[in-house]
Amino acid sequence: MKAIKGHTDHVVVVGAGLAGLSTALHLLGAGRRVTVVERDRVPGGRAGQLDVDGYRLDTGPTVLTMPELLDEAFSAVGDSLAARLDLVPLHPAYVARFPDGSSIDVHSDADAMEAEVLRVAGPGEAAGYRRLRQWLTGLYVAERDRFIGANFDSPLDLVGPSLARLAGMGAFGSLGAKVGGFVKDRRLRRIFSFQSLYAGVPPERALAAYAVIAYMDTVAGVWFPRGGMRSVPEAMAASAARAGAEFRYGTTVAWLERIGSRVAAVRTTHGERIACDAVVLTPDLPASYRLLGHLPRRVVPLRWSPSAFVLHAGVDRSWETLGHHTISFGAAWKRTFSEITSLGRLMSDPSLLITRPTATDASLAPEGRQLLSVLAPTPNLELAPIDWDRVAPAYRDELVGLLEERGLTGLGDSVTVERVLTPSDWARQGLAAGTPFAAAHTFAQTGPFRPRNLLRGIDNVVLAGCGTTPGVGIPPVLISGRLAADRITGGRAAASGSSHHDLARSAT
Ligand SMILES: Cc1cc2nc3c(=O)[nH]c(=O)nc-3n(C[C@H](O)[C@H](O)[C@H](O)COP(=O)(O)OP(=O)(O)OC[C@H]3O[C@@H](n4cnc5c(N)ncnc54)[C@H](O)[C@@H]3O)c2cc1C
Repeated sequence: MKAIKGHTDHVVVVGAGLAGLSTALHLLGAGRRVTVVERDRVPGGRAGQLDVDGYRLDTGPTVLTMPELLDEAFSAVGDSLAARLDLVPLHPAYVARFPDGSSIDVHSDADAMEAEVLRVAGPGEAAGYRRLRQWLTGLYVAERDRFIGANFDSPLDLVGPSLARLAGMGAFGSLGAKVGGFVKDRRLRRIFSFQSLYAGVPPERALAAYAVIAYMDTVAGVWFPRGGMRSVPEAMAASAARAGAEFRYGTTVAWLERIGSRVAAVRTTHGERIACDAVVLTPDLPASYRLLGHLPRRVVPLRWSPSAFVLHAGVDRSWETLGHHTISFGAAWKRTFSEITSLGRLMSDPSLLITRPTATDASLAPEGRQLLSVLAPTPNLELAPIDWDRVAPAYRDELVGLLEERGLTGLGDSVTVERVLTPSDWARQGLAAGTPFAAAHTFAQTGPFRPRNLLRGIDNVVLAGCGTTPGVGIPPVLISGRLAADRITGGRAAASGSSHHDLARSAT
């Protein structure tokens, strides 16, 4: 593995999102002095927060998987997840609701899920589910260290027994087809393949290798931190501060002072000069390239993930049908993916993720109230330059009306406060193509083909975050922080995740 050159005693990390915080913890653990510079007043970045009339909203991720990666970051500084966060495992992880009126509870516990599959689809499918679970677990083990958790210096790094093993497992075929080989029920196929959208690609076009996201969601389990998702970055920042990191909040990095191939200092918009030995950049990839004045050559321009429209609502009633996470599927499937990934239209028969964090932590809303967020995937602004400031109110009404038809009777009248976030809001935060989900995980933008965390011609800068390897989402960006720290220290930080033994147990 290549490491950066020269002194690395003082590292400036730009951005206190989850990637920056993970980087900081791993660097502190390796004895580096760390300064974190963040333009916002609070840590979290895309894992954002908003307080409105007694409601504590999380504006970013709602599905927390692979908490052992958080523990790994805390452990780097002698801290622990258990000491910092109160994580509640979600049972079920999701409730999936279908247009025929049926619903399936998605459990990460093998026996509970098998019983649920037996109930809704019979013994053949229950056996298929067991085989699928085994395959998902094996796939994760095969990818964890060599594919997801590795620094690549060249695509050739992949070649070898691990690649052959992945190929043998069918990881380079289509995700949709692979899942369909285990379960035939259309509802089950959706439950185990919709996650490819998190990677920005329809199941039919996604590599089966991306079933690892379904592994994280449906096998390894989903958690919710008491206090809301904001507790995660807050706990990481507190742990890093205790371990000696200096945080500069409300400070925007304007440019990097370069001498030859090295960055000597980070310059802020307040005119401050922060001298450093090395820099880790975690802003959105094009923003990092702009700071560097460096645009790596790519034969084909980056393809951006779809974006999202999110309605956050404080409501004065609840509905029995809503779990902590509910996926309300429309009848359309392939068409839905085409609309948001290639046709550039809003979904004509929407599939929606509804999160009710107050199902697990009532303190996030005033007494007797509930907090809901409804996430509708949309095309990004490059594919569909929709005037969201004009369209948003009508789209909000359309979604509320649809949810009322799908069983959330009286939703519109129950809303006491609301906030809407659209692709235009993500664009205003400086996110390319108005998407918070970065470059899509197409084959050409995956693994060793994803923009690298090292840059040619710049000796002491490393990239981290969702734009670089391994990719988008909480688990990947936590890993990206460790990978960036490894590039600086030259070391391979502690092995990720639970043991193979634990994984084998979770599959059964
Ligand atoms: C609505 C939504 C739902 C999501 N759902 C999920 C989910 O359920 N599960 C999941 O795993 N993931 C989910 N994600 C994705 C996940 O949140 C992101 O992949 C991850 O948080 C990105 O972290 P990051 O550190 O790479 O980037 P960021 O969080 O964007 O961090 C970059 C930081 O850099 C700061 N910054 C930028 N420019 C400068 C500058 N010039 N100077 C100083 N600071 C700067 C920014 O303010 C920011 O804090 C979701 C995201 C969104 C928005």
